Amino acid sequence: MTQSGRGSSGPSRKRLPIRQRRQLLLLLLAVVLIVVAAVIGILVAMDRRQSETQEPISTTLSEQEGQLSTPSSTEGISEPESTSSEPTSSEPTSSKPSGGQVGNYPTQDWNLILINKQNLLPEDYTVDLVTVSGGQRVDARIVEPLTDMLNAARQAGYSGVYVMSGYRTPALSQALIDKEVQIRVNQGMDEQAAYEEVIQAIAPPYTSEHNAGIAVDIYAPSYSVYGFSPALENQADYSWFKEHCAEYGFILRYPKDKVAVTQYQFEPWHFRYVGQEAAQAIMSQGICLEEYLGQA
Ligand SMILES: [Zn+2]
Repeated sequence: MTQSGRGSSGPSRKRLPIRQRRQLLLLLLAVVLIVVAAVIGILVAMDRRQSETQEPISTTLSEQEGQLSTPSSTEGISEPESTSSEPTSSEPTSSKPSGGQVGNYPTQDWNLILINKQNLLPEDYTVDLVTVSGGQRVDARIVEPLTDMLNAARQAGYSGVYVMSGYRTPALSQALIDKEVQIRVNQGMDEQAAYEEVIQAIAPPYTSEHNAGIAVDIYAPSYSVYGFSPALENQADYSWFKEHCAEYGFILRYPKDKVAVTQYQFEPWHFRYVGQEAAQAIMSQGICLEEYLGQA
C-alpha cells in the first residue's frame, strides 16, 4: 500500500492528476457553489428579517395616523371647542391647539386613556356599561374596584356614599352645558363668557372622562351641605376618598394645585379610574394624569 502509493504519486503524476484534478476541480466548484449559496441564503434571510421588523412598524403608524385624522371625529366637536379656545389665555397650556387631538397620548391602555380639552375621546369609542347602585352606569371594567371603594368608605363610617354621576353620553354633556349657559345668559351674562365659565366645570362632549364611563362623581353626605364646592376638600367623607382612592385604582383627577394643567377647576368629588399602579404613583407624588403621562 505504501509502496504503490508512493509509486503513483511519484512518476505517474501526469496520468492520474488529470482525473484527480477534474475531480478536485469539480469538488472545489461544488464547495464554492455551496458556500456561495449559503452566503446568499444568509444575506437573503437577514434582509427578510430586517424588512419583517420594519414593515409592521410603518403599518401600525399609518393605521394610527388614519385613526387620528378621522375627519368625522373632529368635525362634530369643533363647534364647542372653537368657542372654548380663548378663555385659557392665562394658562400655560393655551398654546396647544384648541381644536383638540384624538387619542394623542403615548398609551393604548384603556385605563390610562387621556381625555381632556386637548385630547378628545374618539367618536367611535365604545364601552360596555354596567349599572351600579344609585342607578348610574360605568365602564364594566371599573365596577369591581368602584364597588370595593364605596364599600370600604361605608365601613369606615361614611354610609350613604354612592355614585352621583357616572357615564354620560356626549349629547348629555352638551345638554348640561347648554342648560348652565342659558341660566347665566338669563341672568344677563354674555353668551361667550357664560360658555367659558361653564366649561371650566362641565367638560364639552368628547373631552369628558364621563363620556368614557371611567370617572365618577361621588356623593358623600357633606355634599348635601356644600354642593359642588371646593369646601368638600375639608370634609371627612371626601377626605377619606382622597386618602384611599389609590388603593382601588382611582385618582383625584382635578387637584387643587393642577388647575393650570388640567384646565378644570378643583373637583374634590370627581374620581377617575387609572388602575392601582398609576393611581399609587399619581397620588403619592401629588401629580395629575397629564404629568404622569408626560402630556402636561
Ligand atoms: Zn365628574
